[in-house]
Amino acid sequence: MLTKSPYILYSNGEGQIFEDTSLYVVGRTGWDAMPIPTEDWIELPDGGNLYELPGRRGIGIDVVTGEMRLCEKGWAVAAFIPPAHTGFYLAAYETQPDAPTLPLFCYTAAGWLNDKFYVPAVRIERDIRQECSGFDQNKVNLGVENMLEAYPHNRLVKHLAENCALTYHCPAARNYFIGRWECPIPSSPACNANCIGCISFQPEDETIVSTQDRLTFKPTAAEIVEFTVPHLETAPYPIVSYGQGCEGEPLLMWETIRESIIEIRKHTKKGSININTNGSKPAAVEALMKAGLDSIRVSLNSARPDIYAKYYRPNNYKFEDLIESLKIVRKYGGWASINYFTFPGMTDSIAEYEALCNLIAETDLSMIQWRNFNIDPDWYLGRIGVADTGECMGIKQMMDLIHEEFPHVKFGYFNPPIERMKNYDVDFAH
Ligand code: SF4
Repeated sequence: MLTKSPYILYSNGEGQIFEDTSLYVVGRTGWDAMPIPTEDWIELPDGGNLYELPGRRGIGIDVVTGEMRLCEKGWAVAAFIPPAHTGFYLAAYETQPDAPTLPLFCYTAAGWLNDKFYVPAVRIERDIRQECSGFDQNKVNLGVENMLEAYPHNRLVKHLAENCALTYHCPAARNYFIGRWECPIPSSPACNANCIGCISFQPEDETIVSTQDRLTFKPTAAEIVEFTVPHLETAPYPIVSYGQGCEGEPLLMWETIRESIIEIRKHTKKGSININTNGSKPAAVEALMKAGLDSIRVSLNSARPDIYAKYYRPNNYKFEDLIESLKIVRKYGGWASINYFTFPGMTDSIAEYEALCNLIAETDLSMIQWRNFNIDPDWYLGRIGVADTGECMGIKQMMDLIHEEFPHVKFGYFNPPIERMKNYDVDFAH
């Protein structure tokens, strides 16, 4: 644990980053800049990146006067912390009027001390499936070659190979081609929501681009079954997951998904079948549970219906539908997670804490995946019209209180394999 605050970082606008030892770094929550407790800092984990933030001046505390002031030496710097870690504070900066909107990544506070980079965060997940040191590109390339040869007519395997694994470097797709753990099944070219920060589709007139392109075809059940059954049969801790970042909403394809689940389970009982979804169609979820679905992960930026609606801008569904979907999965004995877009200043507000407690109690939720929200903080708060986030308790304290209130609710970052659904603390050495 650190005994003093790290120094602020700045960039010279040419991608070079320096520390300014006249200023201690501070963090941001909502619209407010504040000091970060020294016990909240960890070394920037392997796989983390540092970003310069053009048109933004970092905010720090003068090491002599103790006054908060801007770092005028260059642009502000933030950290993209790797999966399995959740950030406690955003990077704090002042945005100039002509500053460009930042792309869809997370912007966690970052500092420098004792020749190391530090971030205020916690490792929330011990599963190593997305450790960047665990990916051998030669194995991925060999897997791609073998699978394209094994399934020459399968459009989905071709998409997972050429787009997901080799272009977007999607960890889930790369794990599939290495023959391990969670295998992605993108299935829907369309969506019934219009998320402001959608990662697979951004309107032409938007200033930012989506991080990947949306699927352009509707796979058949046969195409899905062809490559998923061998994965479930042979991979360690196998999961197959509908609903990926490169598609719309999988529940719009529920008939095809149901048909594929029934067919998969005719061939193998191994592993688990999961769906990542916006939870908009509870009747479809019930049909999938009856067919053999094991778990669901519902994505949300907030447990408050009004904040949810301002971000998701749903077509023909309402917040109560995703609550119903979670309840249905629990009714059938399935595992129900939320993919909780964690944003300091919104997630840890008193109002959000109360709403989340209600959601957990009403749905008998199994797990919270505390996901860093990949979005420009000013842009997000501006677009959902939040000028004042209200009283906040801090992400760390919120996690502690939720754990105290609901000790059975698991915390993590990834969909657990069947072995962990049965015993979450099982020692699953990958
Ligand atoms: S639910 Fe997913 S695919 Fe649909 S708009 Fe939101 S982020 Fe995009």
